[in-house]
Amino acid sequence: MESSSPATVSADHGPGPTPADLLRRLRARGAGDPVTHVERVPARAGVPAPWPSWAPAELRAAFTRRGVVAPWQHQAQAATLAYDGEHVVIATGTASGKSLAYQLPALATVLADPRATVLYLAPTKALAADQLRAVAALELEGVRPACYDGDTPRAEREWIRRHSRFVLTNPDMLHHGILPGHAQWSGFLRRLAYVVIDECHTYRGVFGSHVAHVLRRLRRQCARFGATPVFVLASATSGDPATAAGRLTGLPVTAVTEDASPRGGVTFALWEPPLLPPDSGAAPPDSSSVPGQAAGDHDDLRQVRRSALRETADLLADTVAEGVRTLAFVRSRKGAEVVAANARRSLDDAVPGLGDRVAAYRGGYLREERRELERALLHGDLLGLASTNALELGVDLVGLDAVLICGYPGTRASLWQQAGRAGRSGQEALAVLVARDDPLDTYLVHHPEAIFGAPVEATVLDPANRYVLAPQLACAAVEAPLTPADLVLFGDGAKEAVDELVAAGALRQRPTGWYWRHRERPEVDLRGEGGAPVCVVESATGRLLGTVDGGSSHFLLHPGAVYLHQGVSYVVDELDLADGCALVHVEEPDWSTHARDVTDLSVVSVRSYVDAGPVGMFLGEVDVTSQVVSYQRRRIATGEVIDTRPLDLPARELRTVAVWFTLSPQSLALAGVQSADVPGALHAAEHAAIGLLPLMATCDRWDIGGLSTAVHADTEAPTVFVYDGHPGGAGFAERAYGTASAWLRATRDAIAECGCETGCPSCVQSPKCGNGNNPLSKPDAIRVLDVVLANLPE
Ligand SMILES: [Zn+2]
Ligand SMILES: [Zn+2]
Repeated sequence: MESSSPATVSADHGPGPTPADLLRRLRARGAGDPVTHVERVPARAGVPAPWPSWAPAELRAAFTRRGVVAPWQHQAQAATLAYDGEHVVIATGTASGKSLAYQLPALATVLADPRATVLYLAPTKALAADQLRAVAALELEGVRPACYDGDTPRAEREWIRRHSRFVLTNPDMLHHGILPGHAQWSGFLRRLAYVVIDECHTYRGVFGSHVAHVLRRLRRQCARFGATPVFVLASATSGDPATAAGRLTGLPVTAVTEDASPRGGVTFALWEPPLLPPDSGAAPPDSSSVPGQAAGDHDDLRQVRRSALRETADLLADTVAEGVRTLAFVRSRKGAEVVAANARRSLDDAVPGLGDRVAAYRGGYLREERRELERALLHGDLLGLASTNALELGVDLVGLDAVLICGYPGTRASLWQQAGRAGRSGQEALAVLVARDDPLDTYLVHHPEAIFGAPVEATVLDPANRYVLAPQLACAAVEAPLTPADLVLFGDGAKEAVDELVAAGALRQRPTGWYWRHRERPEVDLRGEGGAPVCVVESATGRLLGTVDGGSSHFLLHPGAVYLHQGVSYVVDELDLADGCALVHVEEPDWSTHARDVTDLSVVSVRSYVDAGPVGMFLGEVDVTSQVVSYQRRRIATGEVIDTRPLDLPARELRTVAVWFTLSPQSLALAGVQSADVPGALHAAEHAAIGLLPLMATCDRWDIGGLSTAVHADTEAPTVFVYDGHPGGAGFAERAYGTASAWLRATRDAIAECGCETGCPSCVQSPKCGNGNNPLSKPDAIRVLDVVLANLPE
């Protein structure tokens, strides 16, 4: 790492303030104190270890040339386990040098055995490219590392298959290219010694479940060629990494979690933007709370707190004005651009030209552009950067003085990864989490123990999801007929899935196994969720503006919908579901649109339940039918409803997994909930419970749906359902069921502790409510949850 502060910075600003001083100045800025908690995360000295004796001198020398004098203890420990043939996951913090832990055993083996090969998997092409450079820079003879992905020219592919011994790719390429072409890869797979799975915590939910089966398919092909590679996984800090890695690979995995790399101390502040007066309509919607294309869907809620985006922009301007090198993490691209623009404006107002030292950074930049921004930040030409979490994966940028995190990034694991960007070697740094107007964020800034005292969450995936398992088994059957032994490999539910494929005419059973019957391969997209994406096309020019995932398309692209794209407003003329496209034209009306849906849910089966007197807690399969039936038009300036217009869109079905609880009407009456208030009480509890579930599992509230009703036909009782928004489930409802009392306790506390009177986006309102947040009863929601918690065993 190059040395820090160039002269230009210190000449302008002198030595930077200490984190404590800086925080004091930031807090003193407005009326009231927005800081709810300050945590001092102490510095840690590194624990070096000697090079393992098995590491060849040539390799040690190569690392030493690259500046690695000795490994840290965790690196040496994980490397030796892997070298001895154990499957291992190393789960430590940002910049703790996880790559050495797999490079060392993998490259030592490649050097010792002139035939051995290594397959490296990264979730993104950019990360694979970075790793390629790192391995190539070691200049080891005969390794011939190469990236093999969608961008690899045809002409190079054969050379790589035949000659490279360290192939870097991604799960999609493994699934679409390498496994189907296993015959061409037989030489490589036969000699495969190591499979490296980098950033393995990103394989979660439905995507993670798909990847789990792609890895089983890989193991199966290796086994056919007589190879049994060792798996080495690298993860961000996560709860129970050994179990998650075991689920992902289907193998017993040993975890190394003790981080022995050195770290500077961090002053970590939790920051809650102030409440605005109730009638203040001036605050813009906080688009940072709305991922991706859902932007613009949030302004139906009156903002009651100052937006986290504005607050972050101000903090960024203030830290930059102090000469402090600062990175602000913002959830959406648009949000990052808004933060950077606002910070630039305030800085230019103070000192013309100072705004030039702030920029926005998002995924999708060319490598040269990324490197230029990184360089500018490292050298101090640039002092402030607002970024999406594109920086989280594989971009080498450490050594900042302050990190601002605009909105809880969804998991403690990501939070620590982002905060880990702060702190140059041994120096103190500041990290600030700015809460959004959202139940989870609000809960966290008032419950620092949930951040600093709790283990990071487990990575959740469910390889037994039959909507994943069946298509993956179909892919496997194309690669080689399935045998009874394969059913063991693919795990729970594999036999049932094969029977279904046989019944559907996709597989045929013969004495030697199950055979794929069709000519063409099954089309399986690892990342595909909620149906095929819908293209958004500008009618006048035929230009493709972008895509919206199928699941959201009815909400965002119904005829008449106002659709925002990179700050430009369009109105949808037509949604053509058959062709999967929406035709739009440029128009900026002074209203926004808000789709309404009706949802129906029926219980298919109960997997597990807890009978707790007046309360029941259940896990099972459900069918969810939802239909977008109308939309409201509302004035942007005032929020006034102009009208409600009907829509004619088809209903959609989802078979998924849900967790639900029931209460007896008597217990509700005893708790003081009037029968007229039961719907509002349950609805409010449902919203908050969905908002808090990400505390328990690595999901986003957008991964989950809910339904509440004063009496449900299948349960015959007041019921709240929370379901996985993915066909077949993704493991989130299951996790909620497993942690029900902790989850609902946090939900109850979040509602009770919110400073609002009748409910707000920080507690019981939901940005994705299909009923326009009506009815909602905040006090009765607390009573409902009290009844549940009083009866449910811990
Ligand atoms: Zn509230
Ligand atoms: Zn709702």
